[in-house]
Amino acid sequence: NKMIVLKDYVKGSPKESDMLLKTSAVELRVPDGCHNAVLVKNLYLSCDPYMRTRMHKIEGSYAQSYEPGSPIVGYGVCRVVDSSDPNFKNGDLIWGLTGWEEYSLIKSTEGLFKIEHTDVPLSYYTGILGMPGTTAYCGFYEVCSPKKGDTVFISAASGAVGQLVGQFAKLFGCYVVGSAGSKDKVDLLKNKFCFDDAFNYKEEPDLNAALKRCFPNGIDIYFENVGGKMLDAVLGNMNMKGRIAVCGMISQYNNLEEPEGVKNLLCLVLKRVRMEGFIVVDYYHLYPKYLEMVLPLIKQGKITYVEDVAEGLESAPSALVGLFSGRNVGKQVVVVARE
Ligand code: NDP
Repeated sequence: NKMIVLKDYVKGSPKESDMLLKTSAVELRVPDGCHNAVLVKNLYLSCDPYMRTRMHKIEGSYAQSYEPGSPIVGYGVCRVVDSSDPNFKNGDLIWGLTGWEEYSLIKSTEGLFKIEHTDVPLSYYTGILGMPGTTAYCGFYEVCSPKKGDTVFISAASGAVGQLVGQFAKLFGCYVVGSAGSKDKVDLLKNKFCFDDAFNYKEEPDLNAALKRCFPNGIDIYFENVGGKMLDAVLGNMNMKGRIAVCGMISQYNNLEEPEGVKNLLCLVLKRVRMEGFIVVDYYHLYPKYLEMVLPLIKQGKITYVEDVAEGLESAPSALVGLFSGRNVGKQVVVVARE
């Protein structure tokens, strides 16, 4: 069983060498006495920014730190090989938290989702039909309280979550602008995802001026993915009664000990802005409702999804590290096996 393990807790930007490829023997069955467990073959693994926060020794977070020497844990799409839970049988396809290895023993089936619809790419269950998709759905519809005609700004807009938030907001009748870190990503936002406007934040000497140019009448909704300087610039451009859904702050994850401060926080008061953090795990009860909405949109071609696919378990460390320099274009997936 090939696996990717964390070498030691990580300081600063993660590097490929923070993870190691190891091999160990595996028995392809659920051990006796392990109830409600499944032994799975991992097919597609998801690289998600929050995984960086688990490479750090943290307390008090919803996600526990990884154990140095143990396989990295993350979302994935898997096929059941053996099961001690009567609700899961051999051959079933599932998505949920698994290990970065060829085969994993998942000790509790709680939190696993059975895949019922297979007439879409299976890898979509790491993205649009999995955790990031549910995040975009609950973040936009539940946390942002959108109204038709609202002006919406999304940072890290071409990524796994952002590309969906933008498309949902367009379908809802909002004016949508995104920021991303390269010309190609900006083109994608405008031409493929049909955002009204987009800019490359790395080439804007003054983020405040860029936002003023794109939003001459201010921002009603900010879908926050990056934090730091961008958040500060956005705060100064929010409209009265605006809403900020704090999904993530990737610019801070490599330096959690000394987070970057914001100067414009008082704008929350002056403009009566509501800023609310949320975690997708609190919204998984909406997953069936989300699938009901999004599957027809995919099949009718009303929503598109861009993935960045890395081949082989060995490529997983580099794929994960790439999220922090913006190397991924769209949802970063790792293929371990196709069936
Ligand atoms: P992406 O697919 O968007 O990948 C990360 C992207 O972030 C990179 O491609 C890069 O794009 C951008 N980025 C990296 N470093 C920086 C930086 N220092 N400043 C600005 N941008 C940066 O990731 P996801 O869509 O999966 O995740 C987006 C956000 O949503 C993250 O903050 C993540 O933690 C959060 N999240 C939160 C969840 C929740 O439950 N609250 C669930 C899922 C995700 P670019 O080239 O544009 O810079």
